[in-house]
Amino acid sequence: MKTEFSLTQLADPDIKEADKILRACVHCGFCTATCPTYVLLGDELDSPRGRIYLIKEMLEKDKPPTPDVVKHIDRCLSCLACMTTCPSGVNYMHLVDQARVRIERDYTRPLTERLLRSVLAFVLPRPGMFRLSMILAGLARPFAALLPTPSVGASSPGLLERIKAMLALAPHGLPQPGPAAGTVFAPVGRRRGRVALLQGCAQQVLAPRINQAAINVLTRHGIEVVLVKDEQCCGALTHHMGQDADALSRARANIIVWQREADQNGLDAILVTTSGCGTVIKDYGYLLREDRAFAGPAARISTLAKDISEYLAGIELAPSTQKGDVIVAYHSACSLQHGQKITQLPKELLSKNGFVVKDVPESHLCCGSAGTYNILQPDIASRLRDRKVANIALVKPDMIAAGNIGCMVQIAGGTSVPVVHTIELLDWATGGPRPGLN
Ligand code: SF4
Ligand code: SF4
Repeated sequence: MKTEFSLTQLADPDIKEADKILRACVHCGFCTATCPTYVLLGDELDSPRGRIYLIKEMLEKDKPPTPDVVKHIDRCLSCLACMTTCPSGVNYMHLVDQARVRIERDYTRPLTERLLRSVLAFVLPRPGMFRLSMILAGLARPFAALLPTPSVGASSPGLLERIKAMLALAPHGLPQPGPAAGTVFAPVGRRRGRVALLQGCAQQVLAPRINQAAINVLTRHGIEVVLVKDEQCCGALTHHMGQDADALSRARANIIVWQREADQNGLDAILVTTSGCGTVIKDYGYLLREDRAFAGPAARISTLAKDISEYLAGIELAPSTQKGDVIVAYHSACSLQHGQKITQLPKELLSKNGFVVKDVPESHLCCGSAGTYNILQPDIASRLRDRKVANIALVKPDMIAAGNIGCMVQIAGGTSVPVVHTIELLDWATGGPRPGLN
């Protein structure tokens, strides 16, 4: 694609990067076929190619984005299916990230939307606040029926529709909190390795059992696990809302504490059980590339970050207790399959450990979770969820496995089949409790 940035604009490293990305796009349109919003809405401006064009215009003209541009960028899930499909290697992720930052900086959203986004950005990364908000949402749940349902094709859903979507996601009860930051879990038998386990923010409130399962599997196989003290939210939530000052300050804070832990006590890896977080931590090196003090440490941390399935693939697991009679539909989270290109490892681990693994038709399409997307775009999100759940039902599973808490909550909202994390099944297969019973 031809671009027309001035030399002054190209002196900005972000614009220089955007220029490189835009020039790689040959406008072939292959990406449109796998873009969930284009598949649903059929509007070129809701396709990757259309959005790339809008972003190019916005950056080149260097003017505040119009409401129409914001509408189409906001509808993007950042699922990155387009990056998997693109034959030219267009890095849509770094382009749309930049567009979101620009919108956040130059566009004034309606007051109610600004308020909602501020509340989400404040509450979600803070487990204590998130726990409190979930308790309050649980109390308000009975009143959700009084709120309007999101209407198909509305240019931007209203506040009440979004509150209704938020209440629908609130759980009926919350589990007890998991172990405190700073805890070190000793390995069983000879120590074969040492890892940090990302504690996460929403996940540690909604499903501490996931990291408990990871700790069980790791320590059972001789790996010492540390929950690093003073670790923060990885920054993914605010990063995807274009609030990069917040996201980058969280990234820097994490880099400091993880680097200290690695230097003082040794770390083979920083393991992540929420693939949405993993994708962003693996991108710290890029995000902080212009920061003299942090570029090197950020690249080091990105190299250390591993999805739990990547790490376990390098370990010989104990013989499985499974007898091949549990059918598992494997939902491939977008952040895992498109963001981190991890497609086969989780399925291979499950198969090797005695589960009958079924691929879900249209597995490349997002379930509609996408961070805060299911709150901010409830209509599109619920249509994607229904489509995902219908596809999952075709393989008649006993359980659904996924590697991302956002997908798990989203899919569980549309099915009665237990939705569990891949690591819970691996824990079960190697001596832990049967998941999906709580
Ligand atoms: S597939 Fe790649 S090169 Fe083709 S239009 Fe989409 S982003 Fe551009
Ligand atoms: S990230 Fe997903 S929703 Fe956004 S343009 Fe690409 S395929 Fe479409």
